Amino acid sequence: MLTVETFKKQFLCRCGRCQSLPPSEKLLKALTAFLSALKVRGVEVSKCSSGYRCPFHNDAVGGAKGSMHMKGIACDLHVPVDEVTLQTARCIFRGVVLYDWGLHLDVRDGKPVFEDRR
Ligand SMILES: [Zn+2]
Repeated sequence: MLTVETFKKQFLCRCGRCQSLPPSEKLLKALTAFLSALKVRGVEVSKCSSGYRCPFHNDAVGGAKGSMHMKGIACDLHVPVDEVTLQTARCIFRGVVLYDWGLHLDVRDGKPVFEDRR
């Protein structure tokens, strides 16, 4: 089960050679609110599979150019997604992308983005 503390560890870049960045304060706040809202309903996030990515690692995993992951403001959470979880995510995060394995969430500036890539 993902907690705020394990999130901070799993967030770090997976390349093994950069210094990584921690999650931004805004992302951490949003993540904390999201986990609390899920917990009330008994929904658990199993892990954060991707958080910060340095440009090298982002290329290695085929990430988008200008990915929010390179700014330390995005995370990929493995979680079962039902309608309530999805709406909660969209209330808290400005960027939400739905996948088979869960959700990409980010705290980008500008207008909200939602995509269903299942
Ligand atoms: Zn790296």
